[in-house]
Amino acid sequence: MRGTLTAIAIVAAAVLGYALSCAVRPYRDCWLCDGKGHHRAKSNRKLSRPCWWCKGAGKRLRYGRRLWNRARRVHRDAGVAR
Ligand SMILES: [Zn+2]
Repeated sequence: MRGTLTAIAIVAAAVLGYALSCAVRPYRDCWLCDGKGHHRAKSNRKLSRPCWWCKGAGKRLRYGRRLWNRARRVHRDAGVAR
């Protein structure tokens, strides 16, 4: 029983910490281009093209923040429909 409570506390702390970090820093560097927004072609090293994953922005919205935004939108739409 005590072990279960400890596990729940650890999971809750982890979720809370992740939510907090998403609120503080909603964006993270793109994993594909490392936040540069472009990467070099394999055939021609001098040729640089915009990253297709982040569309040249170099930043990606984090999953936690995306979930939060979706929840906000659903909440807002429900309020408008009433
Ligand atoms: Zn990118």
